[in-house]
Amino acid sequence: MTKVGFVSLGCPKNLVDSEVMMGILAREGYELTPRADEAEILVVNTCSFIEAAQKESVDAILEMAEHKKFGAAKKLIVAGCLVERYRAQILQQVPEVDAVVGTGEVERIMEAVEGDLRVLPAQPPAFLYHDLTPRIITTPKHAAYIKIAEGCDHPCSFCIIPQLRGKFRSRRFESVIREAENLVAAGTREVTLIGQDTTSYGEDLGLRDGLAQLLARLSQVEDLLWVRFLYAYPNRVTQKLLDTLASSPRIARYMDMPLQHASRNVLARMKRGSHGDAFLKLLERIRTTIPEVSLRTSFIVGFPGETEVDFDELCDFVRVANLDWMGVFEYSDVDNAHSFTLDEKVDTELIADRRNRLMAIQKKISRANLRAKVKRLSGAPVLAVIEGPSNDNPLVWEARLEGMAPEIDGKLYLTDIELPTGEVAVPGDAARVEITKSDAYDIIGRVVEILPRPALRNPGAAIPGSPAAPVEKLHRIATGAPLRVLG
Ligand code: SF4
Repeated sequence: MTKVGFVSLGCPKNLVDSEVMMGILAREGYELTPRADEAEILVVNTCSFIEAAQKESVDAILEMAEHKKFGAAKKLIVAGCLVERYRAQILQQVPEVDAVVGTGEVERIMEAVEGDLRVLPAQPPAFLYHDLTPRIITTPKHAAYIKIAEGCDHPCSFCIIPQLRGKFRSRRFESVIREAENLVAAGTREVTLIGQDTTSYGEDLGLRDGLAQLLARLSQVEDLLWVRFLYAYPNRVTQKLLDTLASSPRIARYMDMPLQHASRNVLARMKRGSHGDAFLKLLERIRTTIPEVSLRTSFIVGFPGETEVDFDELCDFVRVANLDWMGVFEYSDVDNAHSFTLDEKVDTELIADRRNRLMAIQKKISRANLRAKVKRLSGAPVLAVIEGPSNDNPLVWEARLEGMAPEIDGKLYLTDIELPTGEVAVPGDAARVEITKSDAYDIIGRVVEILPRPALRNPGAAIPGSPAAPVEKLHRIATGAPLRVLG
């Protein structure tokens, strides 16, 4: 069997595209390998939404090109967002690259691998996978992403994603439901719904409050532990959505809502509108409707025209908003974003300094929030999903509470996964955990009860992850969260 190796860069939405391409290749008899040095076909699925991500993509392409020059690789294919920007240049500047596949051409990967497809003429991306599209799950088996929509119609002036991913388009309602049911039947316990803006789900299908409807329906899926969603757009958060979040224990009390800034001046220049006071009212409405909800957001500092007064306004907002999780991006110019043309660019050192100052404010808040949570929960074991042995520290296992999204938020470290009965937890288990202490971003606890494991209704389903994870999955650029280098 011909071996294929994948490098998947960027955000979870790009990871789903990699998983679809892997699924198509596996269906056609290719074997996935985690080792680049033994792969005959190498695919680099790139990210390019900010400068740092672009550099990481170019480095990965050049690294894989070495395997083509000196190793087993016979074909090198570049896919993803970088292709949408530099289709022809990639082929001209890296002769080892045999073909490029854009974000809207994912399902044509076979033509690049076997056919003579080298480059397709650029067209607005229109591809949307569905529940019958082959897909290899590369995340831990118990937690999978479901992309419910693609593209974006918002005019944010710093962002080129609409150019890279095309116009907003929702997947069919029943297709999302069937995919979730298939995943759960094959052992998935938690699904995370993603898109550029999940809160606009269904608008193009004529659905009112489409995301709320989707969540309500998914909360009926038997054996699903949690469904959550990422990337809410603030002015798309309706009371119906909040009521739905509060309506079922299967819907994680969790909201990820990138606000980007709090100053009216900066938000206007970002073409996002609104301001900090309106956001505080929204956060209050969310907390009133969904007690114990965990809130995550992300900000951009150093946007052109951001004054020290604007930045202070953002700092004050963060002090009052009392968020659970926060990511901060340093603004960087992207030549075909509208903000590239704006004046009053902020010095890069000052941008880095502002990021550090804002993260320092949040670190104190996060530490205080987690300490209060430990106090509030002491003696009352809480529900958690077991992730498995920790990559950060070999002496402990990792788990997550419903207020912790995969890969981007703090973690729950488990000092003990064995019960006095001798029963031992395994990855994917739902368990009750006694929380014992916390630090700035993480919590520590031990398993006190392991909940019954649902019988796998469709263990052989083709969806579960192949033995081979991607060669490399670098996603640190896309979260803005502090790099986690532990142990
Ligand atoms: S909503 Fe997000 S993806 Fe869409 S343009 Fe704005 S920042 Fe970009």
